[in-house]
Amino acid sequence: MNLALFGATGSIGKSTLDVVARHGDRYRVFALTANGSAERLLELCGQHRPRYAVLSGMGEDRALRRRFAESGTELLFGSAALELVAGHVETQAVMAGIVGAAGLASTLAAVRAGKRVLLANKEALVMAGALVMRAARESGAQLLPVDSEHNAVFQCFSEKRFVRKIVLTASGGPFRTKPVEALVAVTPDEAVAHPNWVMGRKISVDSATMMNKGLEVIEARWLFDLEPGRIEVLIHPQSIVHSLVEYADGSVLAQLSNPDMRVPIANALAYPERIDSGAQSLDLAALKSLSFEKPDLTRFPCLALAYDALRAGGTAPAVLNAANEVAVEAFLAGRLAFTGIAQVIEDVMAAVAAGPADDLATVMKADAQARSAASARVMALAA
Ligand code: NAD
Ligand code: MG
Repeated sequence: MNLALFGATGSIGKSTLDVVARHGDRYRVFALTANGSAERLLELCGQHRPRYAVLSGMGEDRALRRRFAESGTELLFGSAALELVAGHVETQAVMAGIVGAAGLASTLAAVRAGKRVLLANKEALVMAGALVMRAARESGAQLLPVDSEHNAVFQCFSEKRFVRKIVLTASGGPFRTKPVEALVAVTPDEAVAHPNWVMGRKISVDSATMMNKGLEVIEARWLFDLEPGRIEVLIHPQSIVHSLVEYADGSVLAQLSNPDMRVPIANALAYPERIDSGAQSLDLAALKSLSFEKPDLTRFPCLALAYDALRAGGTAPAVLNAANEVAVEAFLAGRLAFTGIAQVIEDVMAAVAAGPADDLATVMKADAQARSAASARVMALAA
């Protein structure tokens, strides 16, 4: 199977290449993309020999193009090249592993082209869930969730008419037990130090605020076509139970594994078959206990804001997502306090009116409006 790996230099990219390299007979790395890390991408091309590479955040550079050509890879530049590769006739599967709103256009292009889409980029469904799902129905694209919770639900989910609710688990991040008054002073380094997972910086901060779970609730609404009241969140600090599905008869099915993204990645790659992911076998006897608790919405206001956006519908989740991206970036740059993230999002949601999200242009307009409102709020809070 020819795989185009979007976001190859990131955390999802690394885990995907690890799984794929174990199964050279099944998968051919057809394309690798990165935003700007040319040297790292070149190194990956030397190892995996793709037909195409894309540096989507860069303009044409002939010297660089020649160096990639030496390892047999044709290098393309600019974000339009992502859509080109996503829809290429020889691309069979696309790993959507770009972080943030920047992944929407290429994910949608892959869906419209009817590819098998392995979806890590949750922001695409948060921003434009209705559009992406409609495009998938029209093109026959197969959307396979890579986010560990959604992959877990996918594995446990059979007939929707018998499903009572789904429960997404969350680790609670690094600040689950920190005194709430101390949250204002936490640093970016403390926020990205996740207890169980090694991930990119943006999603690590999202895990610390629990906005990650909020985005995942919205993602689940679209993937499994469930109303918000049937999607629950439960904190499970050990990250062993990745999510649960409850059925009408009271049966609850869960998927368990060690916290290792190679498990859901291998599941999505091979579905409906099963392949070795490289993850260690789960040793339940060695685990002291598995615990669960309800999330505290005073500690994690971002989770409540995400439910609000989901209930409001239309462009509201795109506004939430854009405000969050701007606020997280400002926090990582030391321009905003950790607790300012929720504040900025709440203010932006109040200031930017949501409307119907009927097409991509409308969604992108809401995204842009929310970004400028969020930047202004960040500056005002810093003053
Ligand atoms: P990361 O920061 O480690 O990597 C991001 C990748 O996207 C890099 O290859 C980078 O070059 C590329 N990229 C960044 N900005 C871009 C832009 N403007 N245009 C094009 N490419 C760009 O991120 P990650 O942790 O691998 O996360 C990727 C996605 O997967 C996110 O949507 C995240 O929510 C989701 N996800 C990640 C994990 C995880 O364990 N890392 C788990 C579940 C879901
Ligand atoms: Mg997840």
